[in-house]
Amino acid sequence: MAPPYIPMNPNKEAVRWKLRCISCKQRVTATDALRGHAYFALGGLWHAQHMTCARCKINVAEIPFCESATEPNVLMCTDCYMVESNPDCAACGKRLFETCLEAAGRLYHKDCLRCTSCKLPCIDGRYEMDDTTGAIYDVDCYHIMVFDKDYGCALGGAKGPTSAEKTDERKA
Ligand SMILES: [Zn+2]
Ligand SMILES: [Zn+2]
Ligand SMILES: [Zn+2]
Ligand SMILES: [Zn+2]
Repeated sequence: MAPPYIPMNPNKEAVRWKLRCISCKQRVTATDALRGHAYFALGGLWHAQHMTCARCKINVAEIPFCESATEPNVLMCTDCYMVESNPDCAACGKRLFETCLEAAGRLYHKDCLRCTSCKLPCIDGRYEMDDTTGAIYDVDCYHIMVFDKDYGCALGGAKGPTSAEKTDERKA
């Protein structure tokens, strides 16, 4: 991924480089560069052998890499970067993709955002949240639940919501 560093003037090897490897802080020499042992990445030079993924330790000099999302000047292979920077699905705990949904400040796979009541995925990621329990409902179930909550008793014995621990008798 990173192009090998080519010195501007390879004949001037006498010029003492003040460049140091970002990783080991040791000098990177023109000879290193000419032999393809130095790379330019993240705004500095690296010894090729020091360009390793902070997580899995694979050498990333020749493969795509990213800078760690949390630490500057720390390299990561793209796989590890995804693992590190992508939070897991709040429901199944597996890694999220770009198509994830956000609900109530948590992230879910499209199919993992499910209604607490009927257990079906929320269509198009549309959901309602019970303010007291934080439970997620699809729009239909939510309205049924709210209706039961508000009118259930008044209607005499309509089945109340299973998740309502608090008997919150709001009057509409
Ligand atoms: Zn080094
Ligand atoms: Zn890695
Ligand atoms: Zn999931
Ligand atoms: Zn439902």
